[in-house]
Amino acid sequence: MGKKKACKDCRTITEANVCPECKSTDLTTTWKGKIVVMNPEQSEIAKTINIKKPGEYALKVRWTSKKKNTINYWAVRGWQ
Ligand SMILES: [Zn+2]
Repeated sequence: MGKKKACKDCRTITEANVCPECKSTDLTTTWKGKIVVMNPEQSEIAKTINIKKPGEYALKVRWTSKKKNTINYWAVRGWQ
């Protein structure tokens, strides 16, 4: 069992080294807040953070930009 990672591109949570949704390899183990979306069409949260497929998602993903040496969080619109 690997530690679960979150995709920085689409926020999907996965244990694989490649995102199963968008095929990105840009994954991080530093993330906060998990939501499970069953019916994206009926979920206000899913609409707010632009989720279109059912699944497990991270709400906030932290990552460090090597170029700027800064720590960034995904801003989740409408959520504080
Ligand atoms: Zn992804």
